[in-house]
Amino acid sequence: MICNTAFGTKGSSSSVCLSHSIPQHSLKTISANGELYNTNKIVHFSIRKEEQGTKISGTFRLICRDCDSRVFREYEQFDNYTSDFTDNCYSTCVQQILNEITLKNYLSAIYNNESSSAPIRFLLQNTNSYNINYDSARYLKSWLSSSTNDLHDFNNRFLEAKRSLNKMMIDNYSIIYYKLLDKKLPIAMQGVFTPEKAFDGKYINNYHIENASKQDAHICILPSNDFSIVLLFTKKKYGNVKHAFKTIRNLPDDEAIKAIIALGLLYLDNVYLSPEIPKNITQDSYLRELTGETLTTLYSVSSDSPIPDNIKDIPEAKILNSAKANRNLISRYTEIPDQLIESI
Ligand SMILES: [Zn+2]
Repeated sequence: MICNTAFGTKGSSSSVCLSHSIPQHSLKTISANGELYNTNKIVHFSIRKEEQGTKISGTFRLICRDCDSRVFREYEQFDNYTSDFTDNCYSTCVQQILNEITLKNYLSAIYNNESSSAPIRFLLQNTNSYNINYDSARYLKSWLSSSTNDLHDFNNRFLEAKRSLNKMMIDNYSIIYYKLLDKKLPIAMQGVFTPEKAFDGKYINNYHIENASKQDAHICILPSNDFSIVLLFTKKKYGNVKHAFKTIRNLPDDEAIKAIIALGLLYLDNVYLSPEIPKNITQDSYLRELTGETLTTLYSVSSDSPIPDNIKDIPEAKILNSAKANRNLISRYTEIPDQLIESI
């Protein structure tokens, strides 16, 4: 999707790359025996795995090997995240890194969106075989329609970021929060999200207005051997998001990191935990509320009979984003357990 390599044609498939939506170095550094916890370790949805290998965590197949190794070079080079990263925000170097992250996040979002929609479409085409009643079908249809709108947005924004590749840019993105922590966090996450509400409950985006142009933001929490990168940024022109989250900058570091972790758990698909986290984290009720119930609810509305296998492949998509956001869970970010922001 970056170059014009056509996948699926003879001879080209060998060049399709298994890309990581979080730098593999971060995943490796928090893994134990090559394994990571995914967020189902908090949600405990019975049909899904709770652990997975670092090699397949948060991966997608949309770009060729050449692009994967070339286009994301600056962002994957952790030396580039210096303590004066924010001061240099409007330099071409930092803007390029932010653009690479943006590009990767949209690719991953497009891939996750398509993988989530396929089984729902399948269920809707086979409502009789799966005993799906009228109300459930209606729910699934409305979910699919909003998912299709999202896909359209992701595609447009991906193309926008692609146009910025190799172009001198100095003021495309604004950093809302950045911190180079001198500890290895036990959690890694990366992705793009469209926040519905700010910490005080005020609207940033109203999901219920169709075709409204939405403002999104990007999160990276990238642990390394003895430090971690924490980054929240958005498009410079997205005033609502900047205004809503600028309060994070005034918080003490620990609280700021908790606020960003809360946003990530609520909205992102790609969140991984170190198997070295204390057990109480995996039983924490606030974390569970933030992260999950998504698939559990989908399961209960979609069918009274055994659900098809491919439902299990739905990424940790935040299907009930809106309903969860309405409870304004992020305002309780201080309830994130301290162990999640302590070094492992
Ligand atoms: Zn390519």
